[in-house]
Formats: sequence, C-alpha cells, structure tokens
Amino acid sequence: MATEAQPLNDAQREVLARLGAKRSERPSFEPGLRDHLRVELEKRLAGTVRMMGEELDESIWLSKHKLEKVHGCEVRFLAEEDLEFSWSVPVARGIVAHKAIEIEITTEREWAPLDLVDESIARLIDEGRSVGEWLASAGDAQLDAVRAEANNALVSYEECFPRLDRKWRPATEVPMRAEFFDGRFVLTGKPDLTIGHADGTVAGKVIVDFKTGRKNPAHVEDLRFYALLDALRVGVPPRRLVSYYLDSASMTVEDVSEELLHSTVLRVAAAAQKIVELMVGEREPRLVASPTCRWCPILGDCATGQASLRGDDDADYSWEP
Ligand code: SF4
Repeated sequence: MATEAQPLNDAQREVLARLGAKRSERPSFEPGLRDHLRVELEKRLAGTVRMMGEELDESIWLSKHKLEKVHGCEVRFLAEEDLEFSWSVPVARGIVAHKAIEIEITTEREWAPLDLVDESIARLIDEGRSVGEWLASAGDAQLDAVRAEANNALVSYEECFPRLDRKWRPATEVPMRAEFFDGRFVLTGKPDLTIGHADGTVAGKVIVDFKTGRKNPAHVEDLRFYALLDALRVGVPPRRLVSYYLDSASMTVEDVSEELLHSTVLRVAAAAQKIVELMVGEREPRLVASPTCRWCPILGDCATGQASLRGDDDADYSWEP
C-alpha cells in the first residue's frame, strides 16, 4: 500500500495497522457458503413473492439506502418513493469526490487535488451519465460549490490514507448485485473502496465506506449489506468492514462472520417484506420520529416529527427499525 519511501503520518499508520492482517490471522469460510446464503434468502423471500402475486410484477430493488429507509420511518419511505429524484450540489459532490479518489488510486501522475477534482468533473461529463449531464448544465456557483466540497473530501482522504499499492488490488465503486426469483428482487451495491481479495476460502478483502459527519449505526448496517452481497457473488465474504470518517480521521471496524451474514439475510428479507406490504396496501405505514425528521420532505405536515424535534417527551420517538 505505501511506497517504501513514503513517510506516513499517525492517521495513515493507523489505517495500515487496522486494515492490514497477516495471512495467518485471516478467517476461512466453509465452501458452499454462497449457496447456503442464497437458499436461506430465497426461503425467507418466498412468502413475500407469493404476496406480490400477479398484481405486483415489477422488480423490487434493494440498496443500502432503501433498507435503511424502510427500516426507519415508513411514512417517510413512502413519501420519498413518490418524489422525483433531482440532482443537487450535496449529491453531485459525493460522486465527484469518489471519482477523484478513483483517479488518485489508479493514476501514475501526481495531481494537485483541485486539478484532480476538475478532471473528475470532466470525465463524468464525458461519460454521459446523468450526473454528467447535470454537471454540464450546472451554473458557476453550483459547480464552484461541488468543486470546493469534493476537494475537501479528497484532501481529507489524501491526508488520512496512505498511497494504495497496486498489488493490494484497490478498487472503487465495484458494482455488486444478486438477483432472486428471476429478477423480482434485485440486491445492489457499490462500496466506496475495496482492498485485497479472497485467497481460496481465506477471506482477504476489506470494504471501506467513506463518511463525513457523525457516526451512525446505519453505517454499520450498510457495510454488512455489502458483505452479504460479496458473499453471494464469490462465496467468500470480505474479511473486515470499515466506516471511515474523514472529518475526524477515525473509523469503526467490524470483522465479518457467518452470524453477521445470516443476521443480514434476515434484515434484507424483512425489508423486502415491508416494502411489498406497503406497496400492496397490506401494511399501515409506521411513523418513526428521529433527529433525521429535520430533513424529512413532509416534516411540515407531520406533528410527530415536529414534536420530536421540539424535544417533546410524549413524542413517538424511537430509533428502532
Ligand atoms: S417528520 Fe419524522 S416522523 Fe414524520 S414522516 Fe418524516 S421522518 Fe416520519
């Protein structure tokens, strides 16, 4: 990961120490795990597929965001499902920053961070993706805001992470996907960064998601979902899951076990069931207030959310999914 001559600061040394492991310290997983997980998930999704019947013939897409949302406030989940997606500076800056990190990892050239951000914006525009179309038509003030915020994230990344050696197989935003029941359920994810790989049945990959702001239990669940997706793909899950907080140069780290994968199967199946029940009208959506009510698009019409933000003791306040 680090070139021999590269001097490391304390944050970079901590990354090396906590992400690395000798081969003798890495866990092995039984062959056949992929099939076991698939069979278990199919078993737990079977009732939900029956509920879908002929009436609901669309695919149900399950991402980490969707899982978090449906296990939170179901009223908000439904409200946001009805909203048309639109690009904004906060959404675009994350994509630009991730692109910049991708180039930083793969390039031989030395780039100044802002040049790297500009290169990312140019490549996204060239790729013709929808974010590229938005960037191409954004005003100067919006582009400046995207550039500034993506640059902040990139500079933080460069300060906190040592340079990644190619032989460690770093990869950014690798698409992961698993389909069930002929595509009626599609599980998808794209972890920010993966390092390493499985060697036979010995796990070796570390999955890293970069975060800004405060730690949140949902971040741990996001990574567990990625671990399940990877196990469903290759049969050996990642070895370690890391949420890396760029603002504080701190991380939460979790090792992957079979128990963790099985509990994630339950969480995914429960999310799928809730989504389908809500879609076919078999479930009364539940209000769950939390500090995130302040960003809810229907806060203005929600007395429960308003009460919880006022700190009303009688408010229906819960973090429970
Ligand atoms: S304001 Fe809070 S409780 Fe009300 S719908 Fe939104 S997230 Fe749910």
